[in-house]
Amino acid sequence: MSKRAIHMYSWDGGTEADQDPPEHVHCGTDGAMEDEQLSNDWRYVTCKRCLRIRMKELATRTAEDRDQKVKLFDEAQALTIPLGHRNISTAIKCLIRDLGQVRAERDRLRDDRDSLLEAGADLL
Ligand SMILES: [Zn+2]
Repeated sequence: MSKRAIHMYSWDGGTEADQDPPEHVHCGTDGAMEDEQLSNDWRYVTCKRCLRIRMKELATRTAEDRDQKVKLFDEAQALTIPLGHRNISTAIKCLIRDLGQVRAERDRLRDDRDSLLEAGADLL
């Protein structure tokens, strides 16, 4: 007798609110199954239907991740284009450089102010 397929059966013992194990294995195949035909670890699943569904789910998730990345990229680029940069990395590098210059300038102005305040106090 050939070895029977092992299905994905993602029951982790349930939660306090929901202790019931799922009625179906991942692919929805009905029928009585032995414990050794069920696994909650994809590495041991051999059922072709379960694996095909898994592939589709992963492909969907990959596509969603890619769409999300594209959306975030577009949002970031919409911010950097008015700054004169189509390349987001270049824009960030420029902003970091500008920030350093602005901070240095701020520190110089503070020093000038402090010097002026000291000089002013001496006059009083
Ligand atoms: Zn299956």
